[in-house]
Amino acid sequence: MLNFTIGPVMSDNRVLEIASVSTPYFRTPEFSSLMKENEKLMLEFLNAPVSSRCVFLTASGTGGMESAVMNVLNDEDKVVVINGGSFGQRFVDLCKLHKLNYTEIKLNFGESLKPEHLSNIDDSYTAFVVNMHETSSGVLYDMEMISEFCKTNNIFLLVDAISAFIADKIDMEKLNAGVVITGSQKALAVQPGVVVMALSPQALSRIEKNREQCLYLSLKEALINGERGQTPFTPAVTTLLQIHQRLTDISLNGGIEQEQKLIEKRANFIREKLKGFPFEIVAETPSNAVTAYYTDNNAAEIVKTMKDEYNIWICPNGGEHAKDVFRIGHIGNITQEDNETLINAFIEMKSRGLI
Ligand SMILES: *Cc1c(COP(=O)(O)O)cnc(C)c1O
Repeated sequence: MLNFTIGPVMSDNRVLEIASVSTPYFRTPEFSSLMKENEKLMLEFLNAPVSSRCVFLTASGTGGMESAVMNVLNDEDKVVVINGGSFGQRFVDLCKLHKLNYTEIKLNFGESLKPEHLSNIDDSYTAFVVNMHETSSGVLYDMEMISEFCKTNNIFLLVDAISAFIADKIDMEKLNAGVVITGSQKALAVQPGVVVMALSPQALSRIEKNREQCLYLSLKEALINGERGQTPFTPAVTTLLQIHQRLTDISLNGGIEQEQKLIEKRANFIREKLKGFPFEIVAETPSNAVTAYYTDNNAAEIVKTMKDEYNIWICPNGGEHAKDVFRIGHIGNITQEDNETLINAFIEMKSRGLI
């Protein structure tokens, strides 16, 4: 199967080989030093400010979102949450569940965030929560604008960059972001199971002061154990070894900018080739990670035919857009040949009258 979903995605052979042997024991100096390298490379790739830390929790991306909400924010915060789709909604649900004082800024599906949306938000707010790339619609938010807004109003910035990391440019220091979250199964292109959280000194001091809300997702625990390259509980060891392979390879192959250009090129190729089709890009400002398309046909049927008759996975949408939106991912180990195979499948489906 060719996989053009947005996670889990296709991995390269060096990553795959790691999963072909039994998982090694991990309370060893060797694993600790590998984890220290993981932390160092992640902070480097994100251009995290000096004295930032990075922790690796064994959970899916949502575990990281919940951990951030519980460990970094608190009852005294006044939180603004950007909700442009199902991932924004997840932050809203988390803030509600954990009884935070929050205001939701609801956007239309596919709409970018503009300064006028923030006109009622002032410097009485203390935390700004956003999914840099709202993966359900494919919208990439204007992080520079958000960052300027937060700097001006002295608001702490918490960024879910789970699907944006590597695909789109992110500079933690420049953005003055306190938390940046990413996950193993998106552009890191390894197995699912690990959520990666970079924490600025400002986030670290919030965590230090906050009352413990949880045990398994505790960032205090993760940070203390991370000092010696360890985790409090048995982690997804194989996934962490794969992350190490990927980060090292990216570093050796010209760094994160090089990798980002590759993803951008793939996205541009697909967008160009699908111009003649009766599809319309959902996002006003699309991320390189994925393209969401509106279609007049039944989107779920297109996804199913691709899977059953062409052995290609593209991504369906859930909820109210299950019938009119499908998505094509551009992350993972996708070759130019794979991209051409996908386009040829679309061409054939069109000639069969299915599109
Ligand atoms: C994938 C993703 C997540 C995490 O989803 P999980 O299924 O919990 O890994 C969170 N936010 C965004 C923007 C995502 O793309």
